[in-house]
Amino acid sequence: MDLDTRLIEGFDFVCRPGCGLCCFTTPRVDGREEAQIRQLLPSAPLIELSDQEVGIEARPYGGACQFLSASRCAIRHVRPSPCRIFPISVHLGFRAQASIVLTCPGVSLEPLTGRPAAARGGLEMELEAARARLHVVGTERLERYREAFDARRAARGFSGPAEAEARALRSRLHPWVDTLDPGTVPSGEIPPVSVGLERLPLVPSSTAGPLALGRQGARWLLLELRAEGGRPEPRFSARAPGRLLPMAADAERLWRGYLHYWVERDALLGIVEAAAEPTDSAEFEQGLKSELEEIAGEVLDRGAFLASTVATAAGRLDAPAVALGIRATDMDLLDRSSAGERL
Ligand code: SF4
Ligand code: SF4
Repeated sequence: MDLDTRLIEGFDFVCRPGCGLCCFTTPRVDGREEAQIRQLLPSAPLIELSDQEVGIEARPYGGACQFLSASRCAIRHVRPSPCRIFPISVHLGFRAQASIVLTCPGVSLEPLTGRPAAARGGLEMELEAARARLHVVGTERLERYREAFDARRAARGFSGPAEAEARALRSRLHPWVDTLDPGTVPSGEIPPVSVGLERLPLVPSSTAGPLALGRQGARWLLLELRAEGGRPEPRFSARAPGRLLPMAADAERLWRGYLHYWVERDALLGIVEAAAEPTDSAEFEQGLKSELEEIAGEVLDRGAFLASTVATAAGRLDAPAVALGIRATDMDLLDRSSAGERL
């Protein structure tokens, strides 16, 4: 079965020692992996995520997976597929499409602006793991999603193949992104802290463990998570940011580049299908534009807030601030419900 890897091309990846951000999660474990882990550790901290799914339990109150020890994975040789694949994310919908989780600080954002990363590669092992996983999951699941997509497209009156509809939509969305006005996109949202620390958007930090963004009333908080868990104190808190505009030219290039990246992701189609169930092509296209506008606003406002935690906002949004906004948004968005699923 083919894995479409075009959205990986041009990116490089080097894992940052001591980062651990991707281990602040409850990774899914399949039956074969569960047996391997239990063989190593019969009392492994596995929990039921649903009728069919088991995961490795995270430590309470926003802590890391129970197997993270001194910034290292204690079961590295039998770690489950989501850990082996990261920072690649594979969306299973009308096909299997790989893209990069841009929250990972080991991935360069340069390719979003059309420049390839200075050093190429570093993702071979993760791609190999993704292909192996796809082989296990098999064609059956993909066939099921493909049929569901076909049925929805038929209801919208679109009879061609799913790829053709996606291509037609993308050919209209790319020029639209080029004309999007950053001053008119909706304000960025972050979830309230009350949804639970483990569900807040994560932000990498160069000085400590990962940070999480959450809202309390009108205030936005930046929380410093600890691998061992435990209620974190806010590292920074401020009123929701106002929009910082105009953007510097390189910041705007990065912002638009990120939106173009989302246009190419099948996950965008899946998110809109799942949330809005559009009944005709015009409604689908409008749903995609609304979702892109939301992403655009989230990047700007999360970026402005995060920039204000490290320096006095200079009255205009620069490229590092937009980069922070992208890091703080990408994994959060990829985790949204989608018609289809993440591998
Ligand atoms: S988030 Fe990226 S850099 Fe950080 S530990 Fe995970 S793979 Fe490495
Ligand atoms: S199993 Fe290992 S790699 Fe996976 S989340 Fe847990 S500590 Fe991290």
